[in-house]
Amino acid sequence: MAPEDEVFDTQAARTLVNQLRGTFSTCKTKSYEWRISQLKNLLKLANDHEQDIIDSSYLTSPNLHSKHMSPRSFLCFRSCLADLLDKVKTSITTFPSSAEVFPEPLGVVLVISAWNYPFLLSLDPVIGAIAAGNAVVLKPSEISPATSSLLAKLVGEYMDSSAVKVVEGAVPETSALLEQKWDKIFYTGNGKVGRIVLAAAAKHLTPVALELGGKCPVFVDSNTNLKVTTRRIIAGKWGLNNGQACVSADHIITTKDFAPKLIDALKVELEKFYGNDPLKSEDLSCIVSSNHFARLEKLLDDDKISGKIVHGGQRDQNHLKISPTILLDAPEDSLIMNEEIFGPLLPIVTVDSLEDSFNMVNSKEKPLAAYLFTNDKKLKEEFVRNVSAGGLLINDIALHLANPYLPFGGVGESGMGAYHGKFSFDTFTHKKAVLYRSFAGDASARYPPYTPAKLRLL
Ligand code: NAD
Repeated sequence: MAPEDEVFDTQAARTLVNQLRGTFSTCKTKSYEWRISQLKNLLKLANDHEQDIIDSSYLTSPNLHSKHMSPRSFLCFRSCLADLLDKVKTSITTFPSSAEVFPEPLGVVLVISAWNYPFLLSLDPVIGAIAAGNAVVLKPSEISPATSSLLAKLVGEYMDSSAVKVVEGAVPETSALLEQKWDKIFYTGNGKVGRIVLAAAAKHLTPVALELGGKCPVFVDSNTNLKVTTRRIIAGKWGLNNGQACVSADHIITTKDFAPKLIDALKVELEKFYGNDPLKSEDLSCIVSSNHFARLEKLLDDDKISGKIVHGGQRDQNHLKISPTILLDAPEDSLIMNEEIFGPLLPIVTVDSLEDSFNMVNSKEKPLAAYLFTNDKKLKEEFVRNVSAGGLLINDIALHLANPYLPFGGVGESGMGAYHGKFSFDTFTHKKAVLYRSFAGDASARYPPYTPAKLRLL
């Protein structure tokens, strides 16, 4: 938001928050008309600049897939805005009265987003913040600078600049923002920074939503449609930015007998999709930066996984590309089995029984998503009842986040709070309890003197 030669420091952050507080205090952002007009502008921004948005993602990393704000997301808010007041029942203790839950905007909120779906991860929470009637500051990721500056430019052009702002920058700028008192901080990214955000928020007792990651397991039962399973695993791993997605398949868990069949099928389909030299495939995203490339190389070069690669393993450092790579039974204490992979490496863990392995996942940090491929109804029920994760998906990967009627968020190490659709509205809303009393029915039992008979009534 500031010209390039201006430093965005603590003072600038304070001035910005004060300005937005001034706007919020006028109640402008609370009106239905303001919210709808801003949401329409956001939708127009996305429609008018679709190509620019795609191009900006490609500048961050060639072949990075850019997903757009879904018009469904917007439509969803139309319906919840029309239903601002939820009438609730009154209790006999307050008779006669009526009551409602009044959804109140929290105030001035901060959205900090990540680079891997730079447009979607920035604007989806902003839609929720605006729909709920807040003033909002967005801080996109510096790792996707082209999208960050495009967002700063377009938000400046399309949105009400007295209430919706973009601040570009990296750690110093984010730190300056985090020093301020916000009414909510919505952060997407890794857990290490999530802890920094939470600590900063604690100073002001600011509520926080943390959209983090984790090691999303994929259980594959032998009673499955092998071809569809294989294709969907490929789409949900290498098709999602070459594994650089929070809901991407981190590792597969399958039975010892079935693993060879699954690996063979994966090899066949991978070749169909990416050819016999996948490093040259335009459909395979590059690794976003040399730092992330080095991180993935470290996982691959770990002595503990020597001899475990059963497919792929090729790398091209100059173009930051790593081919789809499958490992079989990497040791439990190897790096790859202990860090979120966030890249094209896919370890397969074999077990005797899939059902028994649910506990194995539950004994680790809770993932953002867990997946199961099976035709077995009982196994599906067991999975839903027993596996703890931000969300579950049966017979596919990642698609649960495309349903705006489902909350999207983590649990435990994968985060706190959820959004998408009505849940985004809720995450930026305080549900204010309001009770309306009339002057009638002024029972004397509540007034002194408190005789034993009155106390029994109270
Ligand atoms: P990133 O590097 O873009 O960082 C995210 C944000 O944190 C950026 O805006 C950055 O400026 C800020 N940041 C970085 N260091 C900071 C610091 N020291 N202090 C304050 N702010 C700081 O993204 P990332 O963390 O590499 O993203 C990948 C991680 O995010 C993965 O773990 C992935 O699973 C997770 N993720 C989660 C979701 C979700 O919706 N749950 C979506 C995408 C990514």
